[in-house]
Amino acid sequence: MLRDSFGRVATDLRVSLTDKCNLRCTYCMPPEGLDWLPNAKLLTADEIVRLVTIGVERLGVTEVRYTGGEPLLRRELVDIVARTTTLSPKPQISLTTNGIGLARLAEPLAAAGLHRVNVSLDTLDAGTFKRLAHRDRHADVIDGLAAADAAGLRPVKVNTVLMRGINDHEAAPLLRWCLARGYELRFIEQMPLDAQHGWSRDDMVTADEILGLLSASFDLTPDDLEERGSAPAERFLVDGGPARVGVIGSVTRPFCGACDRVRLTADGQVRNCLFATEESDLKTAMRAGASDEELAERWMVAVSRKRAGHGIDDPSFLQPSRPMSAIGG
Ligand code: SAM
Repeated sequence: MLRDSFGRVATDLRVSLTDKCNLRCTYCMPPEGLDWLPNAKLLTADEIVRLVTIGVERLGVTEVRYTGGEPLLRRELVDIVARTTTLSPKPQISLTTNGIGLARLAEPLAAAGLHRVNVSLDTLDAGTFKRLAHRDRHADVIDGLAAADAAGLRPVKVNTVLMRGINDHEAAPLLRWCLARGYELRFIEQMPLDAQHGWSRDDMVTADEILGLLSASFDLTPDDLEERGSAPAERFLVDGGPARVGVIGSVTRPFCGACDRVRLTADGQVRNCLFATEESDLKTAMRAGASDEELAERWMVAVSRKRAGHGIDDPSFLQPSRPMSAIGG
């Protein structure tokens, strides 16, 4: 098992398939993009499948989420999904994506065994989308969401980051829009993970503010608090339910004590936390000939060193040098 020194067990593996993205969301990366990892440094599809297999079959991983960068840009995505949904014990496999290309890929991904998707959508307005993501692709995201739903990749979850003065007036309209389509909306507090280091606490729309914005239009009641377990989102029944909305207060309501996540970057580094400053290099060991047993052992040692919390509120907090797109959000 992947147990840390505080007794937490990591069962939820986030795998970044690429650091590249076809959007330039302002809270993530600069308009000109970043220096992408060279292909030789990226894990190959076979290497990804091997590490996921070790995670599932030897280390107790029960959920695998493919992310990035933008995972739909990875050409072997359908193949990677197909090869990892058949592992035993069978893991839950999901995808976090900006939805561009999902209109084409939702069916093949569902056929490959993908269980569900989280699609990022910060606005209902195509002009705001273009300002925010520096690309004119709003319609593609909307089409991608519809295709995911039609392909049965449910529950279709929508991730939204609100930014002050940009899209914070859209909290209630976004929820209304998602409710009408049966999508489950989750708001994520903006975290200090942008490559430009432009995050500021004052600009961040907090979980309290989000709940205030929603409560002006909806009746929200806390849902399944007992059952929240390691889920990052606090969930609320909307107008008595059964529809729900989630709020992920990563900064102001951290949930590190129940964290069950571990991350694998596109270049094969194990990270215990989005905000970790240390990584453990599985790729170099693998390419030097390490056995599955040795890789599992390295992975266990890496997780045993997981820190108690992300420490954003600690005066000594340092933003990690890798931005979100390179870690895998
Ligand atoms: N490209 C995919 C996507 O758009 O969903 C997957 C990667 S993206 C890094 C994963 C999620 O992280 C998205 O929902 C995105 O909005 C969120 N995200 C990126 N930067 C963030 C930040 N600084 N704070 C909070 N969420 C962020």
